[in-house]
Formats: sequence, structure tokens, C-alpha cells
Amino acid sequence: MGPGQTSNLRRVAVVGAGLGGLSAAIHLRLRGFDITLYEAGEQVGGRANRISEGGFTFDTGPTLLNYPWVFEQLFADAGKRLEDYVELLPVEPSIRYLWPGGESLGLTSNLIGLVREFQRLEPGSGPGLFAFLDDAAEKYRFSFDKMVCCNVDNPLRWLGALTPREMLRSGIWRSLDRELARFFRSPLIREALGSYGMYLGGSPHRLPGIFSILPYGELAMGLWLPRGGIYGLVLGIEKLAREMGIRILTRQRIQRIIQRAGAIAQLEFADGRIEDWPLVIANVDVPTVQHRLLAGDGYRPPKPLKMTPAVMTFYWGVQGEIGGAGHHTVFMPQDSARAYHELIVRHRIPEVLPFYMSIASATDRALAPPGASTVMILVPLPQPAHLQGIDESRLKDDIRQRVLDRLGQHRIEIPRQAIVMERIMAPAQWGERFGLFEGSAFGAAHTLFQMGAFRYPNRERGVRGLYYTGASTTPGTGLPMVVLSGRMTAERVCSDVC
Ligand SMILES: Cc1cc2nc3c(=O)[nH]c(=O)nc-3n(C[C@H](O)[C@H](O)[C@H](O)COP(=O)(O)OP(=O)(O)OC[C@H]3O[C@@H](n4cnc5c(N)ncnc54)[C@H](O)[C@@H]3O)c2cc1C
Repeated sequence: MGPGQTSNLRRVAVVGAGLGGLSAAIHLRLRGFDITLYEAGEQVGGRANRISEGGFTFDTGPTLLNYPWVFEQLFADAGKRLEDYVELLPVEPSIRYLWPGGESLGLTSNLIGLVREFQRLEPGSGPGLFAFLDDAAEKYRFSFDKMVCCNVDNPLRWLGALTPREMLRSGIWRSLDRELARFFRSPLIREALGSYGMYLGGSPHRLPGIFSILPYGELAMGLWLPRGGIYGLVLGIEKLAREMGIRILTRQRIQRIIQRAGAIAQLEFADGRIEDWPLVIANVDVPTVQHRLLAGDGYRPPKPLKMTPAVMTFYWGVQGEIGGAGHHTVFMPQDSARAYHELIVRHRIPEVLPFYMSIASATDRALAPPGASTVMILVPLPQPAHLQGIDESRLKDDIRQRVLDRLGQHRIEIPRQAIVMERIMAPAQWGERFGLFEGSAFGAAHTLFQMGAFRYPNRERGVRGLYYTGASTTPGTGLPMVVLSGRMTAERVCSDVC
């Protein structure tokens, strides 16, 4: 490459200012690239957005923050300290699971409290719990060292990095449920620890056992709430990016990514403007880029990926405190296997709806007016294509009623007249607003053949100079993962052009 080309290649456009896009921009800026970030929405953050109304402040999407080390590392890489930008408040006890039959399980990072909770559901489970923590700690260590954070596209090289002991311990060949069954007899404990499946796009009976590192990570490192909500973290990262000289332009929708002869060429904006770019990082959902933004120009998209479910989310400003519930509560179905089958295999609305409730004002009082509460409800639903023919406003009414009825069953009373403000985002709105393929809330599913070296890589196979970052590429979905994804994409770009 000639010297003239070098300076041209150091200009990068990042399309989308979700946390993946912001992280990629920061890591590329650290490597000397000149970055312009184009975001379609009015503000940065993507799915991690904010709703403010009548003194109530809600996070739109993510509400559980784990793996704080990932965010500390992002700031440390830039020579800064996370705590100078964002205050993290511990959420302790972290999460409570409730079943229709009245059983419950509370998770906490306090070991004595945790043993007590597990013993309540499964007497004698103490040694199993310690063995689980020990096993998952090792798995967590080698997964992050060798499997999660590396740009390896060849499955043999990816798995070959593990020692024979690590390969056996990885649990990759077993289901998550079978992995958990090595330590716990109680189906309720297994259901709770396996409930991440709803967000990973598979039942714990099908997802690989290596995902036992998720409940472990939460137990070992806790759950956190940035002051001001998750959006407090987004604002801290945006501030860092702007201080580093990254140009962030909002209300800039890209409607076409133009490639010529297999190489990135231009970006076409919704207002018809066209700009030349030698390097583009798309933070837009990978299959949305492949099936919509790159369409035409002789580009042949790969087979669509298997996607995670959609969601309907409710944001309620509620007068008064809400008794009987802490910050995070998961309402489990009576028959988990059936609910997964209905939602993920048959694409139906489960008969007994599983859902999640966040009362962030329980941890940060400033998120609601004095004496009031913020309630966010997340209900996993089939993707919009499978909801066709169902009237959306009737669906919202039906789901709201089912949620309120279920809360009532657990004596968590939220009278309708106490809900003084309500906003709802239906599956189709999530899809349209953030460009989510098939309206899938969490991106590409994490089945064995869509993880690690099998997952769609962060470099577009059919277009030189086009890279990806975010939930549908490596390593996967969730705030820490997309921040790591941004770093991995920057490393990938550098290994190609630096
Ligand atoms: C309801 C919900 C709850 C969740 N809960 C949690 C949780 O508790 N904890 C957790 O860790 N994770 C959670 N997640 C997952 C997490 O939110 C995502 O994995 C993560 O935010 C994705 O970040 P991203 O950078 O990949 O993409 P996004 O956040 O989707 O960002 C992509 C950006 O690209 C922009 N864009 C799209 N198309 C264009 C275009 N054509 N031109 C310009 N810009 C464009 C979008 O506006 C958006 O800002 C949740 C997700 C949802 C939906």
C-alpha cells in the first residue's frame, strides 16, 4: 500500500452509535484512525436508550449490567478511569425468580445468603453450589482468555486453543441444562440459572453448557446500576468518545452501503447524499446490512441467521412504592420447557408468559419523582412476522392484563389507577426504530453453530473494507459483549490495514 493510500485508509465511518459502534470508534481512534460516527436516531446508545417523561426516567432496553471489568477496561484503554465518568451502584440482592406455584429463588453475591437460598429449594445443595462455582470459574477464565475475545474464524483453530482438560470442562458438547444438572437436582434452580436462554435464543435444553458462565459471572461479579440508569453509562462513554475527537453525528440514517467489485465504496444517506468511504464499520444488525443495506449491486447475502425472540416492553410511572418486589424480578412459567418450545420453536405466544420486571428506582431514587416508582416490564414474544394478523393494540391490552394478573398472584399490587404514565414498545417498533432484523431484540441466536468461530465474523465476507460490530457478530449479545466486540473489530481492522 502506497503512502497516499495510507492516509485515506485511516478515515473510517462507523454506522450506528450503539455501544458496539461507540466502542469500535474509541478503539480505532486509539489506533490513530479519523472517525465519523453516523447515528440514525436522535441520540446515541441504540437499544440502550432512555425515555424521560413527567419526572420518570427509564432505560428502554438493557437494565441489568454485569461484568463491570469490561467497562473499566474500555476507559483504562483510553487512559481514563470509569469512576471519573460513571458511578456504579451495586444491586444486592441481585435478582429474584418467582414461579406460579409460589416458589421463589433469590440470587445474591453474598455467599452465605446464596447457600441459604439454594438449600431452601434443594436441601443439601451446598457442596453442589461450591462445585458449580469452582467449575464455572475455571470455565469463565479460559473462555474469556481463549474463546470469547479472539478474532479466530477457523473452528478447528478456535477449539484447538483449548487443552484437553479445558475441552472436557467447556461443556460445549452438553446442553446448558445437562451442565447444570451435574451440580443441582432441583429443576427450579436449573430453570433459574438456565433462564438466560430466553435472551440467547434457545432453550437451556439446546444451548451449549458453556453458557453456565453467565449465571456464574453474575454471582461472582454482581449486578450494577450506573447512577442515572444504564443511560448514565452510555453518556459516560459518549463523553469519552467526544473528548477523543470522534465526530458523532445523529439523525443520519444510511439507506444503502454501496460496494463495487467486492470492495466498500460509498454510503448513501436517507436524504440522498452520497459520500465516499474507504472503510466502514457497521453497528447495524449484521443481517439487516446484508439483506437490506447491501442489497443490489451484485451482492449475494448469505442465508439469514437464526435470530433471538422479539420483545414487548412496558414503561410505567407508578404512584407509590411497590411492595413485594426488589429491583430485578423474573416471573418464570410453570413449565419452562413448554414455554421455550412455544416461543422459540413454534413461534407462538406462550400460554403462561415468562417476563421480567425492573424497578430501577428501588436502587436510584432519582429516577422517579419523590414517593413514586419506575417499572419496566419485558415480555419475550415471537418475532413480528409470526404475530401478523394479531391487532397490535389488542395484543398490548392482552399482555398488560396478563402481566398485571400475574403480579397480583404474587401480591405485587400495581393498581391500574396508580400507573400515571405508560409507554409501550411493541416488537415491530423495536425492529423499525433500531433496524433489528426480523424484529429480534437480542440479535443472532447463540446456538452452537452461531457462536465463536462459527458466528458470522466481524469482517463482511463478500465486501472488502466493510466490518461489523455489535450483538449479531462476535462475541455476542449484551452490553459487555458488544463493548468487547468493538475492541475485537478494531483489532481486526488493524490486522488488515495497519
Ligand atoms: C428490551 C431489551 C432488553 C435488554 N436487556 C439487556 C440487559 O439487561 N443487559 C444486557 O447486557 N443486554 C441487554 N440487552 C441486549 C443489549 O441491549 C444489546 O445486546 C446491545 O445494546 C446491542 O448493542 P449494539 O451496539 O450491537 O446495537 P444497537 O444498540 O442496536 O445499536 C445500533 C445502532 O445503529 C443505529 N442504526 C441502525 N440502522 C441504522 C442506519 N441505517 N443508519 C444509521 N444508524 C443506524 C441504531 O439506531 C442504533 O443506535 C437487551 C436488549 C433489549 C432489546
